[in-house]
Amino acid sequence: MGQRDARGPVAVSSQRIGLGVDVHPFAEADMDNGKLLTLGGVTFPGERALRGHSDADVLAHAIADAVLGAAGLGDLGAHFPDTDPRWRGADSLVLLAEVASLAAGAGWRLVNADCTLVGERPKVVGHRQEMIEHLSAAAGGPVHVKATRPEGLGSLGRVEGLACFAIALVEQLPAMEAGS
Ligand SMILES: [Zn+2]
Repeated sequence: MGQRDARGPVAVSSQRIGLGVDVHPFAEADMDNGKLLTLGGVTFPGERALRGHSDADVLAHAIADAVLGAAGLGDLGAHFPDTDPRWRGADSLVLLAEVASLAAGAGWRLVNADCTLVGERPKVVGHRQEMIEHLSAAAGGPVHVKATRPEGLGSLGRVEGLACFAIALVEQLPAMEAGS
């Protein structure tokens, strides 16, 4: 019944969790420059785009940050600085895939990730499966997508932007796979 021998060998956990949070403001209509709102790799024509150096995909960014956190590799901004012209307008699924390979290089692979998009609009429920497929393929493991509305509260409730919270679990790669 849950008895433990305090003198026994200490098992080293081969799993780690990480948290990721990302927020982007909506662009002013005249600043969109034809940029499309992109969430989980799905574009939403007719919706205001988010402002950001890359495609400002809050889902991909939050999940990437969660994976980096779980692998102990710092944050997205450190790896993909918004001063670097290489990432201007970047497809954030590519950034997420890059993060997965950074994690693999450090000996970690994704067990699963989950995220919740917070915002009044757009409605994403009809696109959830497509987002799950894009994000899971990029992250190299199962990613789930949920969404909630802030019910008019605060800046997100005033439709000034979107936020996403993510959590990721990684496990240690078998030694022979690490770094290969
Ligand atoms: Zn971001």
